[in-house]
Amino acid sequence: MIDKKWETCVKCGLCRSVCPVFREEKKEQYVARGHITLVEEFLKGNIDFSSKKAKEYLGKCLLCTACVEACPNKAETDLAMIFARIKNTQEYGIPFYKRILSLVMKNRKTMDLSAKTVNLLHNILFVQHLETPRESISPRIGSKLIERKRLLLPVVGETFLERYPSHIEGKNGRIAVFPGCGVNYAYREIGDAFIRICKKLNIEVLIPKEQACCGGPLYFSGLIDTPVKLAKKNIDLFNALDVDFVVVIDPTCASTMKFEYERLFSYIEDGEYLEKAKRFSGLVISSEKYLHDHTPLKELLRKTEIKERTVTYHDPCHLGRAQKVKQEPRALLSAISGVKFVEMKDADTCCGNAGSFSVDFRETSLKIGLKKAESIMETDADTVATGCCGCIMQVAEALHIKGRDDIKVKHTLEIIDEALK
Ligand code: SF4
Ligand code: SF4
Repeated sequence: MIDKKWETCVKCGLCRSVCPVFREEKKEQYVARGHITLVEEFLKGNIDFSSKKAKEYLGKCLLCTACVEACPNKAETDLAMIFARIKNTQEYGIPFYKRILSLVMKNRKTMDLSAKTVNLLHNILFVQHLETPRESISPRIGSKLIERKRLLLPVVGETFLERYPSHIEGKNGRIAVFPGCGVNYAYREIGDAFIRICKKLNIEVLIPKEQACCGGPLYFSGLIDTPVKLAKKNIDLFNALDVDFVVVIDPTCASTMKFEYERLFSYIEDGEYLEKAKRFSGLVISSEKYLHDHTPLKELLRKTEIKERTVTYHDPCHLGRAQKVKQEPRALLSAISGVKFVEMKDADTCCGNAGSFSVDFRETSLKIGLKKAESIMETDADTVATGCCGCIMQVAEALHIKGRDDIKVKHTLEIIDEALK
């Protein structure tokens, strides 16, 4: 059963002014008001989602929730879109590549195996670019899914979960860490930075090896069964630990586990796991908020110094808007001597990545990304900090296309780690 929390929409159209997709497409069907109309007509039985066009309307939303934040009537427009995608998937299935992804993401072993295979084939499959705003790879041969020259995340040989023991001693608090797949398999250096920061702060860290993918990418595509299995696994695993917090490095995973698990169990009417998901939600916290609110890191950073640099900050949607963590990364970065912090225009506007959106709607995704690059360039910053693997990949590519390989793209944790060294 779905609680239709989008029904408060009065079709005022205010959401059009904040929607990054509408700004590019200028078509009603690509904005929250249009999405809600689509769902209403579907529920009345006036349309089905079988046509190619309908599928495009359902896919062309970043789920950035800018419309939810802007809506004067608190319509949960993102829920309408997720509901429509679930219905569409139940009725007509999902694209082949998402089916494969779903199979791979079902358990840790298949994910590890796939990552290791890709890592082994790196030199055959990819060209390595080192002088881009971030170390990236690009495919040697283009395909319908991923064009040649597209900058992607490199895949590591040794994952974050393999690299560290399941228990690191410490005296100041006790946390469990959930890196997220982007950090575990690709930008592991961000996880390395987080562990070094925890060691410096003498925090006891648990790294449960059995943790599963959060299931977010599948759930946001409209799948239910696999995300439910993954959610149950994570909830049971982490709820059983005696920890202060489950600290999540990737904001999409944090937001999925903190908010979407409850929606998921409400939807399938599983009261037992809904209660468990609520308890789990209270434990989940982003790495930036944890370090800012629950450790003396800010004071420590005031005594540190790094080579002078100008830093601007891009808010990942799942960190800034979903978790309301906006001020914390800025405060931590600004505390470092040597960092001159400058705000960019529209810092909290989505970068246009949104996972499979950047594959399915490459052109629109890129246009949104290039606008973000322009906002960064206007600040004259030499470094852009952010908090999400998808944003890092997107922003790095957009800056590269603009010819600005000199502007480096870093995770907030990496800059903090550098200062503490
Ligand atoms: S979703 Fe909110 S902002 Fe958008 S048309 Fe409906 S009421 Fe207006
Ligand atoms: S979630 Fe973002 S992309 Fe989707 S309709 Fe709302 S503002 Fe537009």
